[in-house]
Amino acid sequence: MSSRDPQRTLARPVSVTGRGYWSGLEVEVALHPAPASSGICFVRTDLAERHRIPVCVGNRIEVPLRTVLASGTASVEMVEHVLAALAAAGIDNCEIRVNRAELPGLDGSAGPFARALEQAGSVLQSLPAPTLVVRQTIRVGDERSWVQAEPSLAGEYRCEFRVDYADDPVIGQQRYALDVTPANFARELADARTFLLAREAQWLRDQGLGRHVGHEDLLIFDERGPIGNALRFPDECARHKTLDLIGDLALAGCRLVGRFTAYRSGHRLNAEMVRRLLHEAEWREGELSEASRNASEGLPKAVRKTA
Ligand SMILES: [Zn+2]
Repeated sequence: MSSRDPQRTLARPVSVTGRGYWSGLEVEVALHPAPASSGICFVRTDLAERHRIPVCVGNRIEVPLRTVLASGTASVEMVEHVLAALAAAGIDNCEIRVNRAELPGLDGSAGPFARALEQAGSVLQSLPAPTLVVRQTIRVGDERSWVQAEPSLAGEYRCEFRVDYADDPVIGQQRYALDVTPANFARELADARTFLLAREAQWLRDQGLGRHVGHEDLLIFDERGPIGNALRFPDECARHKTLDLIGDLALAGCRLVGRFTAYRSGHRLNAEMVRRLLHEAEWREGELSEASRNASEGLPKAVRKTA
């Protein structure tokens, strides 16, 4: 995907249904085409005002274990998997209509979203796609967990994730890297599932969360391996973390050109990288959606000095 590419939206609407991990309720998601330079936007169709929640890092709120966006009184949870599928498919503009406060958990992967997008197809729009190009190395985090962005070698968008569960050898150390293209994503990453350690799953249940989620809905590891489930890839954990990284970097609200490496990072640190990118990387072409423009302008200058 070259940064001179025109913007893209869906050729036709498509929908995905499933149960929400957090509420246990049936959720319907309808992905609709959207005008050029409108960006990616969630619409809560269950609320009287049909609240719009634009996808940008400024609308992210801090919640453990998933990415949550909020605007005004409306919020939407677990957005990272659908955002990863849209980013990998090169979709710049899309209205994501959802009738609950969360996206469906599905099988813990982005596979159903990726296949729905393939089914919808895409069309080119008249304006060039806004693109952020990494020109120098940017790093956030510390020695225990970090995310780094470096200039790309040939105009690619590449993501690598290094998993290090020193205390849990059943997951252990894994490393996975991928050039983010629609075909690579669909084949290598889309079906990699969310995972939890059994003690994390228990902790969530003790908090009254995820009570509807069982070992058939995602990977739950005890010391012998995934409970009642078989891995789809030997390095499925590193692949899923790469998927999450792509979904979180989509909060930049534009295409990315650069090489991203993450070591033991999570949603919070991934979002911190987005904030730094919006300040420090170079714009090439394209009109950024209003939400992303506001997010990049509304940040304190101090964020820039932590290089
Ligand atoms: Zn995930």
